Amino acid sequence: MKDNSSVDPFTAVVVLSGGMDSTTLMAHYAALRYQLIAVTVDYGQRHSKEIESARAVASFYDAQHHVVELSGLGSLLTGSALTNDSVQVPDGHYAEQSMRATVVPNRNAILANVAVSVAVTHRAGTLALGMHAGDHFIYPDCRPAFLQALGDLVAVANEGFPTPKVEAPFITWSKSDIAAHGVLLEAPLADSWSCYKGGERHCGTCGTCYERREAFREAGLTDPTDYLDATTEFAAP
Ligand SMILES: [Zn+2]
Repeated sequence: MKDNSSVDPFTAVVVLSGGMDSTTLMAHYAALRYQLIAVTVDYGQRHSKEIESARAVASFYDAQHHVVELSGLGSLLTGSALTNDSVQVPDGHYAEQSMRATVVPNRNAILANVAVSVAVTHRAGTLALGMHAGDHFIYPDCRPAFLQALGDLVAVANEGFPTPKVEAPFITWSKSDIAAHGVLLEAPLADSWSCYKGGERHCGTCGTCYERREAFREAGLTDPTDYLDATTEFAAP
């Protein structure tokens, strides 16, 4: 039986979306020899590709994997291109104002807090989130202030229980830093999924596909992704 008075310092609960950042995050903690518990939230994304990718990545690392069904939430969150079929996923540079259409209100706070519960239950010493510096200017719940507030919330909301440290090791990194780190650690990046459009292949032109293409290019690495359009370029705003 586990000692209930303390956490296991080498168990990490990783919020795994199935994208490049969280796939590299799995590789990061696997390289540090952590026991991995992956948590994926199905919040009613327009497509299931990223959930399939999360399953493939969790299985690659032989991690315990929990897919939490919250798809009812998606129908409440109308107005975001990620959950509502009638809102078009914009093409272009990810820093464009138009990418605000991809904001799901409070998404990371919801995902993180589901993972907090799993971490507390499993006495995990670490709760790991994959946000990076490139997310900051669009998504408020990817900024350092959010991370700080979440750490405070975890302590207050679970007072009396052993609580995990909240970590986001890539929070000051660029997307190309993450690509380079993932390649170095031999993360299964080809299995990860970024596209917001949800076709059979990555479209190459939506904000997240473009960001992915740019990350590999800036890192000087071969991009393992199969894109429908790998040539259209967008200028930064
Ligand atoms: Zn795309």
